[in-house]
Amino acid sequence: MTIEIVTVPCRSDNYAFLVHDGDTGCTALVDAPEAAPILSALEARGWTLGQLFLTHHHDDHIAGTEELRTRYGCSVYGGAADAHRLPPLDHALSEGDSVDCAGHPMQVLDVSGHTVGHLAFYLPAAKAAFTADSLMALGCGRVFEGTMPQMWHSLSKLAALPPDTTICSGHEYTATNAAFAATIEPDNQDLQTRISAVKAARAKGAFTVPSLLSEELATNPFLRAGLSSVKSALTMPSAPDAEVFAEIRRRKDSF
Ligand code: ZN
Ligand code: FE
Repeated sequence: MTIEIVTVPCRSDNYAFLVHDGDTGCTALVDAPEAAPILSALEARGWTLGQLFLTHHHDDHIAGTEELRTRYGCSVYGGAADAHRLPPLDHALSEGDSVDCAGHPMQVLDVSGHTVGHLAFYLPAAKAAFTADSLMALGCGRVFEGTMPQMWHSLSKLAALPPDTTICSGHEYTATNAAFAATIEPDNQDLQTRISAVKAARAKGAFTVPSLLSEELATNPFLRAGLSSVKSALTMPSAPDAEVFAEIRRRKDSF
């Protein structure tokens, strides 16, 4: 069994992900920021798109949907709660659903916060989670529609996945996220090491996405809001985790 995940850079800083089963030839896509680079990636490999999974309604995650649907006749999947503001769905998904992705069971998680109804997808066969604008490399999405406690709860679900899960997130924001993370935990050695790696990667134009959940747990300030060391650093030693998360998110918003 060979599952391949291909990271496809789109627009200025978006990522889409192709999931391909080498035995069956089945191919799925998570998010469609624009069609052209995805078509190129498929054509270069001789792959045909069967399924498109949408994480949330923002244009930079769905804009290529109709062109891909027209080209391949692929089935489009997205959140039932978001069906009114997503492209027409062939399959509406909700938290707790298990859905076939390129022939493998994939779990649907509601990770509301950035938007209400934002989904993440966990594909155990590939040890991968598609998180788009919820959990990001060294960061998380801005909380536009949901509440801070809701976003904290969503990130906690992702943090509970196996640490060797590959986090396929939606944007190349890691360098800025790294600079911010250093303001929260300047003495975190794992973070300093990662910041050097991120700088080196970006200097040669390499992607910093996907990342490993274990790296995020060690360095991503938004996952670390429950740690007493982080609470103390923010002079919030006895605050609930969600309030500490909210303080970190607010600081990032004005960083
Ligand atoms: Zn978004
Ligand atoms: Fe986005």
